[in-house]
Amino acid sequence: MGPRHERHLIPDDTYIADKDVDENVNYQTKREKRLFYHVRSGFFDIQKPNVAVFVFGHLLYAYSYYLLWTEFPWKTWMFQTFLMAWTGVAITAGAHRLWSHRSYKATVPLRVILMIGHSIAGQNSLFVWCRDHIIHHKYSDTDGDPHNTSRGFFFSHVGWLFKRKHPELLEKARKFDFTDLKEDPVVMLQHKYYYPIYVIFAIIIPVAIPCVLWQETVVNSFFLAYVQRYISVLHITWFINSSAHMFGDRPYNVNVKAVENRYLFLMTLGEHHHNYHHAFPQDYATHESDFSLNITKWVIDAVAFVGLAYDLKRPSMDVVRKTKLRIAKEIGLLKS
Ligand SMILES: [Zn+2]
Ligand SMILES: [Zn+2]
Repeated sequence: MGPRHERHLIPDDTYIADKDVDENVNYQTKREKRLFYHVRSGFFDIQKPNVAVFVFGHLLYAYSYYLLWTEFPWKTWMFQTFLMAWTGVAITAGAHRLWSHRSYKATVPLRVILMIGHSIAGQNSLFVWCRDHIIHHKYSDTDGDPHNTSRGFFFSHVGWLFKRKHPELLEKARKFDFTDLKEDPVVMLQHKYYYPIYVIFAIIIPVAIPCVLWQETVVNSFFLAYVQRYISVLHITWFINSSAHMFGDRPYNVNVKAVENRYLFLMTLGEHHHNYHHAFPQDYATHESDFSLNITKWVIDAVAFVGLAYDLKRPSMDVVRKTKLRIAKEIGLLKS
């Protein structure tokens, strides 16, 4: 497997690594570079190993539901639900609100708990996850966005993992140095030892616990505590990249495609206020209301209460209100 094919399976250091790939081609102009990309990224030019892993994984995923239906190992299913909650919070409160947006600060014990949860989720290293997300915000829904919804639902949901990165994205990404991430030892430790950490925390321990504690079969444990949990959380995360940029309202920022998508509130643990989030990305609550069904905010409030998180950031509610009023006038909902 060549380095090109490893890009989404193995965490790479930075986008600069991709420079070699670009330099193998004798580009004359930027226009030719784009043209070359579109030719080589046609329907058949896909990252076949990634597609194979995806298809095989989903066959196992379907079988996991057959097992759940026929055997209903409820203790293991409860354990799976607990792991989904932990890994979900590790993504929303950790990778997203803490490491990508610096919307609050966290003590080392909390960062370690979130890092382990993120490793169990298996969505590549925190460094790679946050790098993609930071660029997503900066160049949202353009060719500079890793999961650009202008290329359709399927591309923004999962197809972006099957394709080579767009040259525009590679070019834009070189402007970032990701110093904050590189200076966090918890992030870099996970990045450096990602695969051993993943195998131990995402596969071995979750599969072993039901077998040891309540004599679950290895097959049931593997399919529920690993396969079903892993792929379910993947799709929930991907819905933010696809549905939360396509189906809903834009009351806070009409210049982005991100929307408020209320149907995602429960499964995304409160990340459904995606239009608000793209207007005020540094708000740890990701919404103006304290009463929104925002489970991640409640978790951050709770860990802040016991001293594990601090410096929680929020914008002035006056600014939020004025922004909303301005947009309501702009789109003709209110007369000026
Ligand atoms: Zn974000
Ligand atoms: Zn977004």
